[in-house]
Amino acid sequence: MSKRKEGAYNAEAMITATRIWPLFSWKECGKCRSQFRRQAGWLVKTDDSYLYGPITVCGECCKTADSAIEQMRLRVAAADLAKRFELTKEGLKRAA
Ligand SMILES: [Zn+2]
Repeated sequence: MSKRKEGAYNAEAMITATRIWPLFSWKECGKCRSQFRRQAGWLVKTDDSYLYGPITVCGECCKTADSAIEQMRLRVAAADLAKRFELTKEGLKRAA
């Protein structure tokens, strides 16, 4: 069940960061876009994957879980905004 509420998502988004150490498969960092493996990184998820799916970030960009969560929070905020507005010929309009 979605916890999405009108205009209040960002404050309610539950974001978790799990430390990963990809051994064989390459992961793409959601911040610097480089591929990484055999180094520390984070798997970051929200409780509403409809709004934004899980991302991985490398340990160079995000040294702490808090900074990894902040990376995701920016994306959740942007995705939330994008869903609430649409670009029309007349400009930005609030989605019905
Ligand atoms: Zn990175």
